[in-house]
Amino acid sequence: MSPARPSRTRLVPPELAARVPAIRSAAVTALVIGALTAVSIVVQAVALATAIDRSLLHHAALETLRPELIAIAVAVAVRASLALVGERWAQRTAESVVSTLRGQLLRHVLALGPGWLAGERPGELSLAATRGLRSLHTYFARYLPQAAMAAVVPVVLLAWIASQDWLSLVVVVALVIAVPITMIYFGREANRRTARQWRRLGSLAGRFLQLIEGLPTLRAFGRDAHGRREVVESTEGVRLATMRTLRVAFLSSLSMDLIAGFGVGLVAMALGLRLLWGELDLQTAMAVLLVTPEIFVPLRRAGAEFHASTEGQAAAARVLEILALDAGDPTGALSHVPATDHPRSAVDLRIEGLRVVYDNRSSAALEGFSLHAPPGSRLALVGPSGAGKSSVLAALLGFVPPSAGTMTVDGRRSTDGSVAEWRTHFSWLPQRPYLFTASLAENLRLGAPGATDEQLEQVTAAVGLDRLVGHLPDGLAAPLGQDGLTLSAGERQRVALARALLCPAPILLLDEPTASLDPPTAAQIAESIEPWLAGRTVIVAAHEPLFLPHFDAVVAVGTARLSAVTP
Ligand code: ADP
Repeated sequence: MSPARPSRTRLVPPELAARVPAIRSAAVTALVIGALTAVSIVVQAVALATAIDRSLLHHAALETLRPELIAIAVAVAVRASLALVGERWAQRTAESVVSTLRGQLLRHVLALGPGWLAGERPGELSLAATRGLRSLHTYFARYLPQAAMAAVVPVVLLAWIASQDWLSLVVVVALVIAVPITMIYFGREANRRTARQWRRLGSLAGRFLQLIEGLPTLRAFGRDAHGRREVVESTEGVRLATMRTLRVAFLSSLSMDLIAGFGVGLVAMALGLRLLWGELDLQTAMAVLLVTPEIFVPLRRAGAEFHASTEGQAAAARVLEILALDAGDPTGALSHVPATDHPRSAVDLRIEGLRVVYDNRSSAALEGFSLHAPPGSRLALVGPSGAGKSSVLAALLGFVPPSAGTMTVDGRRSTDGSVAEWRTHFSWLPQRPYLFTASLAENLRLGAPGATDEQLEQVTAAVGLDRLVGHLPDGLAAPLGQDGLTLSAGERQRVALARALLCPAPILLLDEPTASLDPPTAAQIAESIEPWLAGRTVIVAAHEPLFLPHFDAVVAVGTARLSAVTP
């Protein structure tokens, strides 16, 4: 299908129009502007042709040409104003489309959650959300207005030529018909090649990020040259794909220029001959000759803009693909529940017949799991690696939707309110904690923005970080670097534990809290954090040893068995 065809499916991709209502009104506005522009082109051409005819053939004085000159001035002013208004409108629509889609993508990705993100390449995703959606701007700011022009202007101008001179119409129509055929071919080719180019770009972004993040591992195994080679090959792939895409764009604009040049030349020749033979008057011939190139101008521009906007279309296709994934209720994902709204009093937690299945796995990670944690109780989840301990915590935190079973807090089901509300019941120490590129204090205040400096000092002392803080030049204000890379594994874990303890949620989920700690340090911390656990339910997923000196129950994961515990 030609990008110039006035079809809604091409002018406005229906999936996009359904997601961003502003697109439809922008398309209608662009069509109206196109129609008005076409009318002013005709007015301008006729007035100019009349002025030339009257001054050359009838030797009219300049003062008597005033109506024609005024008409020309008005037509030029109207065209310029329409172009300005159209440009502004298109820019505004493009901004609104891009920001709306980015917002929807962000909400959706958050709603899909960590369970889905684990299987994705973060580099590729951030490329689609940033540069990808940025290039969709070109589609709406430049291609859409030109496509609307190309859909309306030639039709109006051809109708006017039909009313003036049938022969010119036949010549122009014969060539205009060649335009959609050329554009279908080059448009499809460009879309195909840009989609490939975009995939390669995404892969390059992913590989580059992986090379940076995995550099220590690659270097340790002597494979950094291999990682670099992968990125170089990927870059070469992108270069070749880009050159192929550009070749299509150049060929397309060359063929459009040839058609336009050929069309105008043919019409001029036919008009000139018939003028000589006396079959046509100068005014009509002149007006038709002035209008003919204007038929091809929007077609050529739409063709050029189409190629400039294909990257945006490829990115939009990826974004729409993600938006089409079922994410439950994406509106709840960004709903903000302030940390101060954490219910502080002890709560009763129950899990009944929980089943967790990951999308990319054939068997369930967790089957028929049940647990009862009375207010203020301490439970240990035990089981071999891969038994599903982290999956229980992931389900509680709403990262993976359970495919069966119920979870309740004080009798209220997890599905009764928003995920954000449900999550306020929990504070979490993940197995692989993430530390943000911010200060130590900012990282600690993540779940407790209102925590005082004194509280930060107390909690860092409780987890045995006071010596580290004392050695940092800026103390708690010291920056931690990307993902806390300036800290040791044990220090990172203790920062994450301190962060979890500071968050005032009534249920504390600790996933392998001693993984990076030596047993004497772990035992010491278990004792010193005691005041921070008071009155709260604590669930520890762990191998032996079990971190805390006393548990009310040890729950075996993987066998769905609940056993009482001897301290
Ligand atoms: P544990 O914490 O007991 O070591 P997990 O709950 O982490 O066990 O894992 C249980 C099973 O689920 C494992 O087989 C693991 O490979 C799988 N699993 C965990 N997270 C994901 C995920 N995001 N996508 C697919 N499978 C996963």
